[in-house]
Amino acid sequence: MKIVREPRVYLVGRQHTDADGLERFLTDHGLSWTTDTEVGAETLCETAGRVCYMSFGKGRKTNREYLRHILESAHGSVLEHATWNFIITGVSRSFTHELVRHRAGFGYSQLSQRYVDESTADFVEPDAIAADPELHAIWEESIRQSHAAYCRLVEGLARHYAAEPDPTQRRKLARQAARSVLPNATETKIFVTANARALRHFVESRGHEFADIEIRRVAIALLRILQREAPGLFGDYTIVALPDGTEVARTEYRKV
Ligand SMILES: Cc1cc2nc3c(=O)[nH]c(=O)nc-3n(C[C@H](O)[C@H](O)[C@H](O)COP(=O)(O)OP(=O)(O)OC[C@H]3O[C@@H](n4cnc5c(N)ncnc54)[C@H](O)[C@@H]3O)c2cc1C
Repeated sequence: MKIVREPRVYLVGRQHTDADGLERFLTDHGLSWTTDTEVGAETLCETAGRVCYMSFGKGRKTNREYLRHILESAHGSVLEHATWNFIITGVSRSFTHELVRHRAGFGYSQLSQRYVDESTADFVEPDAIAADPELHAIWEESIRQSHAAYCRLVEGLARHYAAEPDPTQRRKLARQAARSVLPNATETKIFVTANARALRHFVESRGHEFADIEIRRVAIALLRILQREAPGLFGDYTIVALPDGTEVARTEYRKV
């Protein structure tokens, strides 16, 4: 049994523009336009915004200026055209339960406790418990007991379902019932796809001091990646350290 205290966020996918397709659209409409960003997400959001007014070649010159105006004017639907894909690991089931409440503009694929054997599961310990030896001992004992019960239940349920001829189905039946004793602290993995508008909403609500520390940590980790990926879409946020050592995200362009 391994204790995990730090989430990991892997950026595994981003968008690219199809330059030929964009050029065909411009030519078909007698337009000539280029932008000064090489970031696919930023180009696509600018293109989408310019389609609204067919303003190619007019008005604001740089992509950064253009996207800042989108944020200022809260033209948020334009930001839905930029998406990224992430794998998040080293997080608890309580974290993912909060994460999947974010419905609009998010897609999820999470490790299945019905199919995957949790007898080798890791567990995520909150910092506040880890910092205190007495609390840590209570937590660890509770985790060990739950985990041992899970393993015993899987064995017993395998006997209970012995008449099931398909071994995969037999294991699934046993694990899906036994998982009921696994704690919220059980480590999980989740594949997340989200657009820039949804990610901004997530960063604002979960990168806030009122949010749970684990989800806040993930929100700040995502924000750091996104600020490197697309500064035009996320550069308005500042990350502020609080006196307790945790971090929050702030912006003047909330709820775009
Ligand atoms: C500090 C904090 C404490 C929380 N505590 C609790 C708690 O105690 N109990 C609890 O159950 N949840 C709690 N939550 C979760 C919260 O209620 C939301 O479910 C979660 O933050 C997702 O937010 P959302 O619905 O705005 O996001 P999304 O589902 O991603 O929606 C984004 C936006 O789209 C719009 N939208 C989406 N769906 C609809 C719809 N059906 N109708 C109209 N507009 C829609 C809304 O403008 C919404 O803000 C908490 C969240 C935070 C940040």
